[in-house]
Amino acid sequence: MRQYNPSKRILVTGGAGFLGSHLCDRLIEAGHDVLCVDNFFTGTKHNIEHLLGHPQFELMRHDVTFPLYVEVDEIFNLACPASPVHYQHDPVQTTKTSVHGAINMLGLAKRVRAKILQASTSEVYGDPEVHPQVEQYWGRVNPIGLRSCYDEGKRCAETLFFDYYRQHRLRIKVARIFNTYGPRMHTNDGRVVSNFIVQALRGQDITIYGDGSQTRSFCYVDDLLEAMLRLMATGDDFPGPINIGNPGEFSMLDLARKVIELSGSRSKLVHMPLPADDPKQRRPDISLAQEMLGGWTPKTQLDEGLAKTIAYFDQLLSSSGAKATEREFSLT
Ligand code: NAD
Ligand code: UDP
Repeated sequence: MRQYNPSKRILVTGGAGFLGSHLCDRLIEAGHDVLCVDNFFTGTKHNIEHLLGHPQFELMRHDVTFPLYVEVDEIFNLACPASPVHYQHDPVQTTKTSVHGAINMLGLAKRVRAKILQASTSEVYGDPEVHPQVEQYWGRVNPIGLRSCYDEGKRCAETLFFDYYRQHRLRIKVARIFNTYGPRMHTNDGRVVSNFIVQALRGQDITIYGDGSQTRSFCYVDDLLEAMLRLMATGDDFPGPINIGNPGEFSMLDLARKVIELSGSRSKLVHMPLPADDPKQRRPDISLAQEMLGGWTPKTQLDEGLAKTIAYFDQLLSSSGAKATEREFSLT
């Protein structure tokens, strides 16, 4: 008699990126077969090299703007550069990745009747007037600005997900992810947490854009992944969208001071121009996540998560010999 096998074949697009690589780890630990698809635009083989050769892991270099024909039970669609520096580098490709990528992955999900989760973003709320942000808020997004390729691309992807849900009865999950950080962010990622930590460890000036009063809410990667996995396991009648993040809210000045203190750095703060359309405030209302995800709540406070992330970058920079001699002196 055939044994019941709870393991699934799961596709992770963007699986060599920061969040995707941690997700691959968690899915393999849970006993699933993982197909990691990535074009290595911002992801690296380094993030997944420990999985290469694992019998449950398969890596495919592929760009999601092109159709993909594979057989899977579930899809986590994470492919898309997430840092403003990187998504603005080739904005047309960014929109294509979100929109054509969503069409291709939804088409795949429809053909094989897979459940599909979209990594959407708090950026769908734009520069929000409603604070904290609730899922019912439609947002305030500039459709023609420098961030629009990402914001509008992700908004259009949400539209496509919900049209496939209504029109084709696809099983969808839309997660609106708020700023998440942790080990395996790229040293040149450009997002604020990794920038500040790398600058602090190298003894370089910490670059505060604008006056540093703008706020963000930072979620540690482990908390985010726990929520994402629980979301995928919710009933078919719950498509989302659902905010996932840590509601603790900090200004960029608060963050810079914390990083300096926790890393024992002597870096100074310097102010640089605020990028266009930079949201002034951001904090998730996570009531829905707490209700729908089995009592999920983020467990890692910012200080603890930063300490872990600083330790990761410290080791990475030491092994690559990239730390400033200035700071090495200060430690001895
Ligand atoms: P990341 O840049 O580290 O990962 C994105 C991955 O997608 C990379 O491995 C990249 O090479 C890959 N990719 C990009 N374009 C692709 C394409 N056309 N085809 C195939 N692969 C492609 O970023 P991340 O922080 O891991 O973000 C993962 C997902 O989560 C993204 O969709 C992002 O929009 C979303 N998200 C992340 C955050 C966050 O704070 N980390 C917040 C909101 C939303
Ligand atoms: N930021 C900063 N210094 C940096 C990088 C970013 O002050 O070196 C600010 C940026 O202007 C924004 C916030 O940090 O207000 C978060 O930026 P990030 O790129 O991490 O993500 P966003 O939430 O803007 O997409």
